[in-house]
This record gives sequence, structure tokens and C-alpha cells, in this order.
Amino acid sequence: MSAEVLALTAAQAGERIRAGELRSADVFAAYRDRAAADELNAFVWVADDVPAAAAADAPLAGVPVAVKDLFCTEGVPSQAGSKILEDYRPPYTATAVRNLQQGGAPLLGKTNQDEFAMGSSNENSAYGPVRNPWDPTRVPGGSSGGSAAAVAAGLAPWAIGTDTGGSIRQPAALCGIVGMKPTYGAVSRYGMIAFASSLDQAGPLTRDVTDCALLLRHMVGQDPCDSTSVAFPEEVRTPSAERLDGIRLGVPEELTGEGIEPGVLENFNATLRTCEELGATIEPMRLPHAPHALSAYYIIAPAEASANLARYDGVRYGLRAPEYDDLLSMYTRTRRAGFGAEVKRRIMLGTYALSSGYYDAYYGRAQQVRTKIADDFRAAFAAVDFVVTPTSPNVAFGLGSKTDDPWAMYLNDYCTVPVPLAGLPAISIPSGLSEGLPVGFQIIGGAFSENRILDAAYALEQAIGFDGSSARGIAGPDAPRPGQERRPDGGKG
Ligand code: GLN
Repeated sequence: MSAEVLALTAAQAGERIRAGELRSADVFAAYRDRAAADELNAFVWVADDVPAAAAADAPLAGVPVAVKDLFCTEGVPSQAGSKILEDYRPPYTATAVRNLQQGGAPLLGKTNQDEFAMGSSNENSAYGPVRNPWDPTRVPGGSSGGSAAAVAAGLAPWAIGTDTGGSIRQPAALCGIVGMKPTYGAVSRYGMIAFASSLDQAGPLTRDVTDCALLLRHMVGQDPCDSTSVAFPEEVRTPSAERLDGIRLGVPEELTGEGIEPGVLENFNATLRTCEELGATIEPMRLPHAPHALSAYYIIAPAEASANLARYDGVRYGLRAPEYDDLLSMYTRTRRAGFGAEVKRRIMLGTYALSSGYYDAYYGRAQQVRTKIADDFRAAFAAVDFVVTPTSPNVAFGLGSKTDDPWAMYLNDYCTVPVPLAGLPAISIPSGLSEGLPVGFQIIGGAFSENRILDAAYALEQAIGFDGSSARGIAGPDAPRPGQERRPDGGKG
């Protein structure tokens, strides 16, 4: 049963369930058992009981979904990869997750992530690092590393994550799956434990583009609980394009040259030739301010994080230091014990950038750069349909190989960070292998162009014919049992 279920994409499993050829309870149990035997440390909590079958007409047909730890899930641990939220069980469920449940996708489990979504390798989790199913000595990318590894390894049919600077697209690329960051505001942020509120956006991580469209369709929507959410202007359609005739693809000089690993660049150029064979035209172009995106991001995101993370004070959620003298020492000891090194670094950077006397020089400047980057994209989309780049400058790297060098780590997001700064949607699809490891191809579009991006991605996906099945061989006995959660530092790092 498990092998039969595992061979299906989520959309295919849903069709078989609706046709009466497969029971949703069997699909759930097959994935639950695989998730519970996870050797990659992709899950921090796995559901226990098989849920009641979804309604016969439920669009997601009972195919279960893995959810990044930072989405609040009622009564279920929601720890955002942090020790400071140890055992936090929220009294409500995030809108994005609730929308999926209402569509008929029950919660399979909570996936490991970098603490508060800060990271590019999943090594900043208090619950231990995640391993890449293509090579367990390497990272899966981050911060949605658990979601990406779970889907790639066939421990979950599909998953959701969040992307602030690249955290859906980069791990999708490093794990050989599809990941999409929607237009800012398309998916409600209500119940997402916040990192940088003007950038955070939830989206799907899936085996293929069809699954991506199906999952996204049931995530989007305006939510009275998130005033920055907007109604998606049309239904997210099932993609069906076979060609790219008449599509103009802009290739920005700044993001497709220096700093990109040779094997990745070679694959990117080969993918461009495939696009041409499908009828697209390739147009060299410029995004003059894109090289400054990382610098602006590493002011803006930490600034917002320093404000968002002020709420973890030992009073309201999770951890409280066991010993203290007075209120102030309770706060400081709780935060010293509860936050990891990267989170502390970001809080210090952000607090500094926002402090009086430095605000204009750093935060104000970064906001100006952000506007320039958005203007660059606006100008670009007057001339091309999509901007395309490699998703990540490199393939999956060795565990521990960049942990001592924050700047080397930050460079992972060189090609993904400009996109959320401009609020735009983008997808990463697997475009082949370099040295036996997956490479991702990024397609960026104008605001609310998700349907067109999905169509283009689908046509390209069919032409590339990427086979991710070899990564689905992994599952083992040493993992949290159903209904149990992992403890901080309990990962097998
Ligand atoms: N890697 C980037 C960071 O560390 C992006 C993270 C994200 O998108 N959540 O901030």
C-alpha cells in the first residue's frame, strides 16, 4: 500500500480517493507511518489518530499536509523552531492552515525549521538540524527545511512553509521540489509566528507544479484577521500550458553571473535553451539595484524581527527562566536561555538599526533601496513577462560548512531576497542535477501573476522531466512517535 500511495502526487492521490479507488484513511496512515519513522529530523511533531474521512466533495479529498512549525495549530505544539516557545500550544489555528483543513487536508505533522525562520540551512533550529534526502551529510536549505525535506523524501504528500527572503524557494531548490512564494498579501499571515511582517508570506512546497497550484488555491484569500491580506483576483487554476510561445524571459545580468556556482550556471543556461525550444525568447536585462538587496534585507528584516520578538518575555508564552531576582532579570534570563545565537544576532542588529541617531542612516536608507528594487522590477515587467534566475547560487552544502560565517550563509539568498522586498510572486522548480544534487530554476512575475507563473512552470516542468523519486527511499525507526514532539536539542545533529 505504502509504495502505491508514495508513487502518487497529492493531486493524483486526491483523484483516486474521489474515484473510490483509495481510502483517505490509508493515504493518511501511509504518510503518518513514514513521517513517524523520519530519519531526517524533518518533523518535530507527527499526528496520531487517523482523522475522519473528508466530505466526498472536499477539493483536497483528505490528502494530509505537513505544516511548518511556525504556523499556530490549536492544541498542537507550535514552537517556531525555538526553545523559547517550548511546549507552546496555541488556542487557535492559523488561517492558512484552517483554509486547508476546510478544503479537506488534515494536519499530518509539524515540520522542523530554522528558529523564527532565520536561516538558510535549517541548522538554526533548537530541535536539531534537518538532513537533505539527496545526501544526508548536507543541509536541506532553510528556513522551511523540514517541509522541503519531508516532501522530497516522500514523508509528506505536500507541505506549507513561509518565505521572508527565500525560505520556501531555496529549500525547494536544494531538495529538488517545487516551492512558491505568493504575492505579498495573497495568503493571510494570521497565526503565523512573525519574523519580518512586511516580508513574511506563506506558500506551498510540493512534488510538482500541479500540486503547487492545487494547494495554493486553497490557501489564498482575504482574511479579516490580517489587514494586509487581499482577495486573490481570480481562481488559482490547474496549469495546462504546453508551450512558452511569445513569452519573453528577462535574464538579469546582476543575478546570473558572478557568485553562481559553475554547475548551477551551466544548468541554468541549459534550462534557458529548453525555454527557447518551447517558444520563449530570452532577453538580457538589468536589475541595477538587485546587488544591494541583501544589504537592505539584513537591515529591514532584523529591524522588524527585533520588534516582533520583544513579546517573548517569559510572561506570555513558552519558556520562563527557573531562577531570577526581579522582573528585569526574569526577562533577560528567559531571553538569554530561550533564543539561539542567530536570533540574538538579528535582535541586536535590528535594535541598533532602529535606535535614535541611526534610524535614518540604516533603516531609512534600506527602505529607499527597497523602493528602488521594486521600481527595477516594475520597469522590467514593462518589457518582459517573467524574470528568471537560478534559485540558489549553489547546490546543497555540507552540514556545518557555513555555520561560522554568517555572510557566506546570507549569500544563499542572493537571488531570492529581491523578490519579497518587491512583494512579488515567484516559483522555484527543479531543473536538473549538478554533481548529483538538485538545482532550482526561479520564475518571478508581476503582482498576482501566479496563474501565469504556474502555467509557464508547468510547461517547463513537462519539458525537463525531472525525476525526484530517488530521494524518496528514506524512512527509519528513530523519530518522534505519533502524538509526541521532539525536545529542544533532541535532534540527531
Ligand atoms: N535565509 C534568510 C534569512 O535568514 C531568509 C529566511 C526566510 O525567508 N525566512 O533571513
